[in-house]
Amino acid sequence: FCLYVQPQYNQITEKLVGGEVLVRWKKQDGTIVTPGEFVPVMERSGLISRLDEFIWNQTAKYLSNRIKNKQNIVPLAVNISRRDFYNPRFCEIFYNLTEKYGILPEHLDLEVTESAYIENADLIIGIINELRSRGFKIKMDDFGSGYSSLNTLKTVPVDTIKLDMQFITLDDGDETSNFRGGVILDSVLRMAHWLGLPVIAEGVETRKQAEFLKSIDCAIIQGFYFSKPLPLDEFSALLDNSVPEYNDSK
Ligand code: C2E
Ligand code: CA
Ligand code: CA
Repeated sequence: FCLYVQPQYNQITEKLVGGEVLVRWKKQDGTIVTPGEFVPVMERSGLISRLDEFIWNQTAKYLSNRIKNKQNIVPLAVNISRRDFYNPRFCEIFYNLTEKYGILPEHLDLEVTESAYIENADLIIGIINELRSRGFKIKMDDFGSGYSSLNTLKTVPVDTIKLDMQFITLDDGDETSNFRGGVILDSVLRMAHWLGLPVIAEGVETRKQAEFLKSIDCAIIQGFYFSKPLPLDEFSALLDNSVPEYNDSK
């Protein structure tokens, strides 16, 4: 298993602001398998928790090495499976990682998919409150994909919303539906601003989407339009050659 990172950009300043860590399975013959093919199986068997812990560890180690070498970093977000919340050591794993590798909680963001909150809200809210009190930032992943998005937002403490453009299409050729998609996106952005929550738009594939997002003040984007997920060495090269917006001293 290895790490890929998909860069996130601020399209106003055109700077790199962060990245999302995505697992890949590299088979012996060199073929790369994407998580859609093995994560659901591992979630069912419970093996996902071990894989996730491995990925979080590798991410913390990667950041730590770059810090030691005085190289640029940006905060990296790791994915949390709903299964992970049932691990009694869950919070401890993150506290230990920051301590062991000498990184800050703000270097390691946690992405929790929206639908996970509904499953066992009290348990998850409790864990998230604890992690947030220690300085970790929580991103609500796949916002808009579930059945009760708005209600979840009312009760769940999060720092950032990730809005997937795949859920609210702007390019399906039907004018009425495109218009409605635009109105919905605009309204979600305004609502998020009123709630004081930053938004990252992901799955941004086209210039049209990027420009529309810019027009409704959605600056941070992630998607094939800017970059596909990159193997770690390519992501490192990108970091080396950019001036990230993230300022470690803040
Ligand atoms: P996700 O967390 O929603 O991650 C975003 C997915 O969208 C990634 O798929 C990414 O490659 C893909 N993507 C990025 N830009 C675009 C775009 O412009 N258009 C489209 N159509 N797709 C785009 P990927 O890497 O195949 O991962 C799929 C899912 O597997 C992730 O969805 C996440 O739920 C899960 N996953 C990935 N890595 C991990 C991990 O380390 N642990 C756990 N538990 N789950 C993971
Ligand atoms: Ca994610
Ligand atoms: Ca997502």
